[in-house]
Amino acid sequence: MHRLTPYVPGEQPKISQLVKLNTNENPYGPSPQVLDAIQAELSDALRLYPDPNAERLKQAIADYYGVTPAQVFVGNGSDEVLAHIFQALLQHPAPLLFPDITYSFYPVYCGLYGIECIAIPLAEDFSLRVADYLRPNGGIIFPNPNAPTGCLLPLADIEWLLARNPDAVIVIDEAYIDFGGETAIVLVNRYPNLLVTQTLSKSRSLAGLRVGLAVGHPELIEALERVKNSFNSYPLDRLAIAGAVAAFADREHFEHTRQAVIASRMELIGALQKLGFETLPSAANFIFTRHPQRNGAELAAALREHRVIVRHFRQSRIDQFLRITVGNPAQNAALITTLGQILAEC
Ligand SMILES: *Cc1c(COP(=O)(O)O)cnc(C)c1O
Repeated sequence: MHRLTPYVPGEQPKISQLVKLNTNENPYGPSPQVLDAIQAELSDALRLYPDPNAERLKQAIADYYGVTPAQVFVGNGSDEVLAHIFQALLQHPAPLLFPDITYSFYPVYCGLYGIECIAIPLAEDFSLRVADYLRPNGGIIFPNPNAPTGCLLPLADIEWLLARNPDAVIVIDEAYIDFGGETAIVLVNRYPNLLVTQTLSKSRSLAGLRVGLAVGHPELIEALERVKNSFNSYPLDRLAIAGAVAAFADREHFEHTRQAVIASRMELIGALQKLGFETLPSAANFIFTRHPQRNGAELAAALREHRVIVRHFRQSRIDQFLRITVGNPAQNAALITTLGQILAEC
């Protein structure tokens, strides 16, 4: 176990009055209907175990996406869902493929479950070339839009790959899809090798509730249920089930906050451009940006001194970039003002 390299999450600082733009949380609160549903669930019934299958939630997700509950898996955050996917579906003699620049939890799960993997380099402009994945594999996984770049892969490219990789599972991690992409869930009935994961942490403002999901062929879901039921029968508690069901019901709040984040993203990219930053096209609730004359690590440290927290990765190819969560207008303005000061100082 001492050889495991754990995932390092963005910090959750204890100091207040920070402009916290480092972990892609939603700047807007969850739907008031979610809070009401959780309140209503607070009763003596908490002495009873929750539904181990979270059937109400699976039905709500199935209705939302036009699939059946047998095509839906739910877990304690999508990180847990992903862990079960690696254990149940990606242990294979052939290597797992994912991009060289991607969600850093994937290699961690490979280490945990002893899965061989190959990192496929993204193109120079950080786009993903699906043709590079046409090689023997025991599965393929990538986020769409990708993290931490924010770049979106068109659904047609995903379908092209699904059709050419029929013998291994392709997992599309759609943690950020609601901020600018079209979900691949529309393809699950045609491609039994497709599994799509999503989370309520970002677009539904519920990172603190821990709810994630996967949608795919019933046989893939069945395999996940076997692993889940060998690990923890009750990954979702009563409050999480009630809150998550309400989150899918309140489409208006979802749409309103989602559009606010998308509008702020465009403003933020424009304001950064005026300061000389180059930003990758983003379909997520964060942007990936660099300043041609400034060192990325130094900029992140200077922002921190001014109480603005962003994410910086000490990894080749991307160590000059900052990953900045799109905040509310006040947070974004504070970021831009502070960056302007830092750039003017020296
Ligand atoms: C945030 C994130 C997750 C994890 O989400 P949780 O549901 O909060 O565990 C998974 N994949 C990617 C790419 C993410 O950015």
